[in-house]
Amino acid sequence: MITTAAVAPYSFFQNVEKSFDEAARFTKWEKGILEQIKACNSVYRMKFPVRVGKDVQVIEAYRAQHSHHKLPCKGGVRFSENVDQDEVMALAALMTYKCAIVNVPFGGAKGGIKINPRNYTPYELEKITRRYTSELVKKNFIGPGVDVPAPDYGTGAREMSWILDTYLSLRPGEIDGMGCVTGKPVSQGGVRGRTEATGLGVFYGLREVFSRKEDMKKIGLTPGLEGKTVIIQGLGNVGSNAAKYFYKAGATIICLVEWDAAIYNPKGLNPEEVMKFKKETGSIKGFPGSKTLKKNMDGLELECDLLIPAALERQIDAYNAPRIKAKVIGEAANGPVTPEADEILNQKNVIIVPDMFLNAGGVTVSYFEWLKNLSHVRYGRMEKRFSENMNHHILTQMEELTGRRVNETERKFIQHGADEVDLVYSGLEETMIQAVNEISEIMNQNKNIKHIRSGAYVCAINKVAEAYAQLGIFP
Ligand code: GLU
Repeated sequence: MITTAAVAPYSFFQNVEKSFDEAARFTKWEKGILEQIKACNSVYRMKFPVRVGKDVQVIEAYRAQHSHHKLPCKGGVRFSENVDQDEVMALAALMTYKCAIVNVPFGGAKGGIKINPRNYTPYELEKITRRYTSELVKKNFIGPGVDVPAPDYGTGAREMSWILDTYLSLRPGEIDGMGCVTGKPVSQGGVRGRTEATGLGVFYGLREVFSRKEDMKKIGLTPGLEGKTVIIQGLGNVGSNAAKYFYKAGATIICLVEWDAAIYNPKGLNPEEVMKFKKETGSIKGFPGSKTLKKNMDGLELECDLLIPAALERQIDAYNAPRIKAKVIGEAANGPVTPEADEILNQKNVIIVPDMFLNAGGVTVSYFEWLKNLSHVRYGRMEKRFSENMNHHILTQMEELTGRRVNETERKFIQHGADEVDLVYSGLEETMIQAVNEISEIMNQNKNIKHIRSGAYVCAINKVAEAYAQLGIFP
């Protein structure tokens, strides 16, 4: 896509600062406190050698800790050629605000390794990840009470298991060591539901926004997701899972946009079939029954009710924003809309549901995973059987009293005691709805706050500032 200095005049970190300043004027906090919240506290930049094939390659990597107002710091590690200091700082800042909004008691962090993972074998990726982890251990930039990485763009459960294993081998006997990283495979201390958490959180969040009759009326839509036309950019972990939940809820996914192609079908695409096709052929290009667009980015500009950018930052900027026709934009990626685009879209009355709230499902479930690791017990282990026995008893009593019997499917449903995944989903759903309510409350109290992004920032700033006030500032 075209990104000249004219359409992207600021760096990603400056973009975040800009949105912060825009919202900070609606808060009561003094300048110094706001400056401290905004600043990125520490950045560790490292370079280390790794043998790749016959050559030695110098790998560049980062870990940025934006805020220490609560510990540990939390945020993913990405593998991407675009990684640089500015990017990890911006993403770490978004993590601080994200955690505050969804009441997850962490400071914000983000890490990155400047590589294209497609160019490396699994063995080489493992060496790089393990070396990165040992660098973090050396500088005390990782640990269950210090800083806890997680998956991000280009990484997943496999990389997290390498991080865990390296950490544990360097810190033997640490009782809470499992909590040094989240997004792990379930067999290695992960929690059920973490993989789909961000996509599911995007769904819960947007479902809540779309349920608000008055807000929907303003943009000419009826409440609810059924029959709404949806475009999704990015079929990575977040986009593909979100697509699945929107499809199940009866939304019509008219276009899917990937880095190499975009496919369109006004009657709707089944994301599970598209993912299967992509797995078999390596691309979504030519998916049966769909039209492949000439330029993939044109997919973002089609008429639709909801556009979900779920790929990378700065996808909608001053260049393409004037042509965006979506009524609602749900930022599943971090920073997909630049402040310049934000302004253009706000003028067009597009509702933008911001990243720092909408994609917080990942870190929310990471928090549940971390709690599981610290408590050394699986969710539901203590109460599942008790609830099932109690439900069975209540049901039997009701059947005796009424003289009627429920069918087998109903019986199973009523008697079922909550398992780990049920509790994780329920905790996530509650968190996302609660966050929408908190942001709405702020916007209701101050009618000058017109946009959800500013409402979300005010919500985050207030919580972080209160935490600083409790910590006390060095005299
Ligand atoms: N990388 C995800 C994010 O950007 C998840 C972070 C985490 O779970 O710590 O929110």
